[in-house]
Amino acid sequence: MTYLHDLQCSFCKKEFKANRLRNLCSHCEKPLFARYDWEKLRTQFSKSDLENRLHSIWRYREVLPVVNPDFQLSLGEGFTPLIKARRLEKSLDFRKLYIKDEGNNPTGSFKARGLCVAVSKAWELGAKALTIPSAGNAAGAMSAYAALANLPAYVYMPQDVPASFIAECRALNANIQLVEGLISDCGLKSQEAARKFGRFDLSTLKEPYRVEGKKTMGYEIAEQLNWELPDVVIYPTGGGTGLVGMWKAFDEMEKLGWIGEKRPRMVCVQATGCAPLVRAFHTGEKFAEKWENAATIADGLRVPAAVGDFLILDILHKSNGTALSVTDEEMMTGANIIGKNEGLFVSPETGATLTAFIQLRDQGWIKNGESVALFNTGSGYKYSHLWAD
Ligand SMILES: *Cc1c(COP(=O)(O)O)cnc(C)c1O
Repeated sequence: MTYLHDLQCSFCKKEFKANRLRNLCSHCEKPLFARYDWEKLRTQFSKSDLENRLHSIWRYREVLPVVNPDFQLSLGEGFTPLIKARRLEKSLDFRKLYIKDEGNNPTGSFKARGLCVAVSKAWELGAKALTIPSAGNAAGAMSAYAALANLPAYVYMPQDVPASFIAECRALNANIQLVEGLISDCGLKSQEAARKFGRFDLSTLKEPYRVEGKKTMGYEIAEQLNWELPDVVIYPTGGGTGLVGMWKAFDEMEKLGWIGEKRPRMVCVQATGCAPLVRAFHTGEKFAEKWENAATIADGLRVPAAVGDFLILDILHKSNGTALSVTDEEMMTGANIIGKNEGLFVSPETGATLTAFIQLRDQGWIKNGESVALFNTGSGYKYSHLWAD
């Protein structure tokens, strides 16, 4: 059962009941976060409870928001392998390199985690139709879980989105809207249609529960490393829901008494053609200005403005982390090095994390002996056009 208690605004700290569908904070228009009953959880939820549970995100159901288990949708998402990258370690002369293999998720990316939880909860709270703006992977994931819940799905994607993403949504019975412009333009259209037709908008961090699904990555890396966190986490950042989610999970696990106060240094990787957070991090801004003319082959990183920008920047500073951008060409090289050494067909976003790792190691920012986790956020299959000759 869940110990969901209420919602709180991540910015102005105003509190809300969690008993109905909500998007942003009605007061300041910033993301809402779910809070749980930590008093009870501390005594009623322990690591040993996890021992015989399913290998899915629902193994952490006490700290996930669905009340009635009948609404826990599942396609086997989560509990993905944390691979010790032995051949990469050898060729890069580095001792502790891990890859969290999110390409193993339903619909081939970690978007499945967030949308599994968000669609489940929207269904439980009575949503009649769902809508989402997406650069590709989120649309597929939402379509899959909406199909399971038998809810109509509306997806808004940029008109130049690769054909594989459109095909996936079509096969999953979603209504597809192609929009001139980028994901931010899709966001406006999706929101407008939500208001007009009474659909619930699952845009990232604009509803409270996708981040709950994504936080399970934080619980998992801790569990898989025997309740020790890595020294460095390298994450390809678009909207940043994964970074924000993992950071939330670390705080929650400390409240549960499962881990101590040590945190990984969090690294945000973006594309040189769209790097609003990298720019804001290095100029010391609290919010990130919108990136004009965003362009990159990594669809998941083509996010010119993130609603959770202030949360991500805060995490990078608090964790003594950093932010850097890599070129499209470097991402492809990174993806091919992972393929050749580890047998994984990964997306360019994942390739970016390896390139970032090599650069940070060469600069001495990462030292041999430290443990580093790269995130393979999506498999390469939906990006096969990038390897066509
Ligand atoms: C969406 C996406 C990202 C970015 O994830 P955020 O949590 O939104 O920052 C990275 N990689 C892939 C493959 C994605 O689909």
